Amino acid sequence: MDQAVRFLDLLFDAGLLIQTGVDGLYGRSGAFEDVLNRVDALATRYGADDGAETLRFPPAMSRRAFETSGYLKSFPQLAGTVHSFCGNERDHARLLECLGAGDDWTSGQQATDVVLTPAACYPLYPTLAKRGPLPDDGKLFDLQSYCFRHEPSLDPARMQLFRMREYVRAGTPEQVLAFRETWLKRGEAMIRSLGLPLTIDIANDPFFGRAGKIMASGQRDQGLKFELLVPINSAAEPTACLSFNYHQDHFGKTWGIAMADGATAHTACVGFGLERITLALFKHHGLDVEAWPTPARDVLWG
Ligand code: AMP
Ligand code: ZN
Repeated sequence: MDQAVRFLDLLFDAGLLIQTGVDGLYGRSGAFEDVLNRVDALATRYGADDGAETLRFPPAMSRRAFETSGYLKSFPQLAGTVHSFCGNERDHARLLECLGAGDDWTSGQQATDVVLTPAACYPLYPTLAKRGPLPDDGKLFDLQSYCFRHEPSLDPARMQLFRMREYVRAGTPEQVLAFRETWLKRGEAMIRSLGLPLTIDIANDPFFGRAGKIMASGQRDQGLKFELLVPINSAAEPTACLSFNYHQDHFGKTWGIAMADGATAHTACVGFGLERITLALFKHHGLDVEAWPTPARDVLWG
């Protein structure tokens, strides 16, 4: 963690990230955003010939859809809900009193119909289900969203609000697995073209609690999740910059997404952690983009 904290301080000093007083919640400089947007555009170039439908959702989603998605069963510790003041004038006076006294003023807040998006693909599935059965060759989507995860940390690569670019494939198991294979290769080529060291490994999500341990080992045993890792803070514990997730029929069943023949659709997604890839570039090539190696510059600015 020492290395991570040092890197975070360097990023603050260089003005690339801007402190807010909350760990994992940062402003970004123009230079940081420029690199991030170029990484995003690079992912677009790699997927350009696939005919993905582009959709953009705000960084929040319907609480009802979130409840249905099963997220709270697996990751209650990461979820972020939006609460608001819904009281009358007396409640308002009490709120101000608490605020003035430095007491907890949040107990009167009430849950709204909105929660923060935990992964870019979550708002997609209910939308897809509403459209009815998928065509025979399935569907492919291009998504990007700020995502929230309650995991405050001094590691700059572990933010509470960060952007996830995704391609999501829905179709038969064969179509969906072929998509994941293609992106495992493309993701590797993309990150290598940026001059970054990488490894690819089987992975599991941080499922909550004792039951979560069983879910995590099931996910690993079935090879459902792979990650492309780049050392950012330490060589021993490289950071997941891309994830390749096969959900089997989890979302298909949850949302009633069907193929034309009535079979439940399978889904998979590839997720690019845009801040993490950007941070990996600054870590390996230095904080001054003008001084980056020519091949990496050519790929991003060429
Ligand atoms: P996941 O849904 O956990 O597989 O996340 C997809 C991608 O988002 C990961 O491969 C990371 O690159 C990125 N990511 C996940 N959590 C964070 C975080 N706390 N801060 C920054 N990026 C993250
Ligand atoms: Zn996803």
